[in-house]
Amino acid sequence: NLSQPQKLIQLAEWCKNYFRNQLTDTDEGKSIALNYLTHRGIDIEAINSFQLGYCPKAHGEMTKQAQVEGATIEDLEQIGVTIRRDNWIRDRFESRVIFPIFNISGKTIGFGGRTMAENKEKKIAKYINSPETEIYHKSHVLYGLYQAKKEIINQQNCYIVEGYTDVISMHMAGVHNVVASAGTSLTMDQVRLLRRFTDTVTIIYDGDSAGIGAAIRGVELILQEGMFVKVVPLPEGEDPDSFARSNSQFKDYVQRNEKDFIEYASIARLNQTQNDPISRATAISEIVRLISIIPYLHLRMKYMRECSRLMQIREENLYLELRKFQEKHA
Ligand code: ATP
Ligand code: MN
Ligand code: MN
Ligand code: MN
Repeated sequence: NLSQPQKLIQLAEWCKNYFRNQLTDTDEGKSIALNYLTHRGIDIEAINSFQLGYCPKAHGEMTKQAQVEGATIEDLEQIGVTIRRDNWIRDRFESRVIFPIFNISGKTIGFGGRTMAENKEKKIAKYINSPETEIYHKSHVLYGLYQAKKEIINQQNCYIVEGYTDVISMHMAGVHNVVASAGTSLTMDQVRLLRRFTDTVTIIYDGDSAGIGAAIRGVELILQEGMFVKVVPLPEGEDPDSFARSNSQFKDYVQRNEKDFIEYASIARLNQTQNDPISRATAISEIVRLISIIPYLHLRMKYMRECSRLMQIREENLYLELRKFQEKHA
């Protein structure tokens, strides 16, 4: 006798297998979705290890099949794959490539779905994800963690990227310790989940202004948890997926360009100041604010020394600045 969550997970597993089958064993799936994935450079090994799938375009097709196999419409709604209104029933992920989301033991708990339609006017969402359900709490889940955890422990580092395809392309480039927050900005619970495996993480977000902003917010969260954080900046317009595919030396690039957060933030801010003393003071203050978040004294001291060197300012002046933030916290 299964508990309700166990029953729902079993149903989500069934859906995952159904989507996989549609991708690899139907004409529609092969000609539309498998073809799409192949053109994106995603190979069969990656399709298998991430269990990618396809939801057919016929309205409610998946729901019908699930019911034939004994699932109830209520349970299908509960796990978020079926949407029911007064006079129609639809599959949430109709006509989309499916990225199953696994819990830490590899059981399916949710899905992401990407449209393959030309979508220049952004009439439909590029990605849709499962809603919050009894088995899927998006702020507690990291995409790819199940596939990454062993290598995170081995490397004592984890790369954090934005999207599903970033995780998959990095795997294909030989980097296996990688996860994505996928669809939310990084949360405290996600950071704490990672801390079970490593105390060092490396952020590689998209090389656009949204990505840079998100990286700084991510740095703050990670510092708050007392972890070490590095950042790898990408060229403008690239994300880890596009960059890994166009750059055969991706692994090398990452290793050569990873910067401790203090270096990343100091350089980024100094580049914006152009010797103007007021904006320089603001820049210094912002870096010191990041340092003030760190919960350990010896780490704060180490970073104060670094900051002094990087920003060419005497340490005692930095400590005056630090005190302002610590008074605010107190
Ligand atoms: P692709 O390479 O397939 O175009 P991407 O991963 O580069 O996708 P981004 O726009 O950079 O797409 O978004 C990063 C991640 O954020 C996505 O992988 C997805 O998990 C999530 N996401 C993007 N758009 C949406 C959306 N409209 N709703 C929910 N989640 C989204
Ligand atoms: Mn982006
Ligand atoms: Mn992207
Ligand atoms: Mn992309």
